Amino acid sequence: MLKLAPADGTGMHDGARSTAIVGGGMLGLTLALRLAQRGDAVTLFEAAPTFGGLAAPWTVGDIIWDRHYHVTLFSDAHLRALLGELGLDEEMRWGTVGTGFYSGGRLHPMNNALDFLRFPPLGLIDKLRLGLTIVRASRIRESLPLEDVPVERWLCAQSGRKTFEKIWRPLLLAKLGERYTEASAAFIWAIIVRLYAARRAGLGSERFGYLPGGYARTIATLEAKLERLGVELRPATRVSAVTHAGSGALVTLEGGERLAFDRAVVTLAAPLAARVVPDLSSDERERLTSKLYGGIVCASLVLDEPLGPYYVTNLTDEGLPFSAVIDMSSVVDRSEWNGKALVYLPKYVKPTDPLFDESDERIEEAFVGALERMYPHFSRDRVRAFRISRVREVFPIATLGYSRGLPPIATSVPNVFLLNSAHIVNGTLNVNETLALVPRGLEALDAHVPAAVQ
Ligand SMILES: Cc1cc2nc3c(=O)[nH]c(=O)nc-3n(C[C@H](O)[C@H](O)[C@H](O)COP(=O)(O)OP(=O)(O)OC[C@H]3O[C@@H](n4cnc5c(N)ncnc54)[C@H](O)[C@@H]3O)c2cc1C
Repeated sequence: MLKLAPADGTGMHDGARSTAIVGGGMLGLTLALRLAQRGDAVTLFEAAPTFGGLAAPWTVGDIIWDRHYHVTLFSDAHLRALLGELGLDEEMRWGTVGTGFYSGGRLHPMNNALDFLRFPPLGLIDKLRLGLTIVRASRIRESLPLEDVPVERWLCAQSGRKTFEKIWRPLLLAKLGERYTEASAAFIWAIIVRLYAARRAGLGSERFGYLPGGYARTIATLEAKLERLGVELRPATRVSAVTHAGSGALVTLEGGERLAFDRAVVTLAAPLAARVVPDLSSDERERLTSKLYGGIVCASLVLDEPLGPYYVTNLTDEGLPFSAVIDMSSVVDRSEWNGKALVYLPKYVKPTDPLFDESDERIEEAFVGALERMYPHFSRDRVRAFRISRVREVFPIATLGYSRGLPPIATSVPNVFLLNSAHIVNGTLNVNETLALVPRGLEALDAHVPAAVQ
């Protein structure tokens, strides 16, 4: 075991291997748990004042709930195992949810075979081909062969050009903007597989769940467990650089403080990781920065009443300022929010989109105005609170040949490791896939004994 005196004395733990983890989202928190359980002296650095990252809670009006909409699928094995270990899985509430489509200026249910057959934008043959596309995709187990096929080509071959234009293209545009042309068929495959994973028994039988108290409870329980295991939690501490140092790794904090560890794991999204680890090789840097990330501007609205019966309303009409309508009230018991309803309006955009610099007031005006046009019974005086989350780098787009350009977990910088959303292949970004990265990270850490720099 190697031990290194920290530059200023903090971060040093007697007798145990010291590991710094940069990023206190669900990935960093869970990796900290596993390493602390193995006896590592772990320090977890998080830039934000609270832990949780994309899954962190925040306050909107008089309620505290997740900053971005989150549901758990019954089939999310990694997440449910963690919840079980934290004593929370038995408290999960499960139910079925409704899905709708807003198409041709009207809302349409899409919950069962009859709804599907009644769905007006497509004729019977087109609907059958669409249904077959989904069934076929849900049966594919390995995404690698799909990585070399452009998503548009694959969907047109499966569903036909008309259905692509009327259904798939608007959905792709909503999630990826014009960059959908760069996505491979693996992108849509991963979404279909996840949505249909819990639905195997037939249309409409999926089970979606939430933990009473929301992610705030999962994260608070994790934090308490980490503290009991001796993990040093450092919220509100932004790391500006991770470099090698002697036989360990050096973490430099914003403000200049430097701390030495035996090793460091950076869990930030790929473009952010590239900035924080300055000594990566040009090939490693290229692998991180060439991943196309999608960002999000996501509004949370507290309303007196739910908007409608659907958890997700997909939009196929053009000209709406958001990508979908998510009515959390159809999943979560409203007693969680003093009887109010919670709606999210996500707009998926690229990291450089001007919407990131738009004022909250203008976004609220555009979003609430569009809701009034969509829902005749809704008016802006029903909005009790409105808050906007902006994150520029959320998920990497599965582009052509995606997994051939993966960044390494063990980098060429001795004792410095990367683990992040860019390492997810064969899946979409969700907490379950995020947690599935943890064993891969541990394996890479185990395979590399701390190395001194020559
Ligand atoms: C709109 C939306 C909806 C979603 N819906 C679902 C869902 O329904 N179900 C589901 O399972 N998943 C969902 N997800 C995905 C889920 O949130 C992610 O899979 C998960 O939170 C990713 O965790 P992470 O730790 O990898 O990344 P992050 O949460 O991004 O964590 C990275 C952390 O690093 C911190 N950081 C950044 N820079 C620094 C620095 N320099 N120094 C220190 N810290 C730094 C950040 O503040 C952040 O806390 C959704 C995500 C979004 C955005």
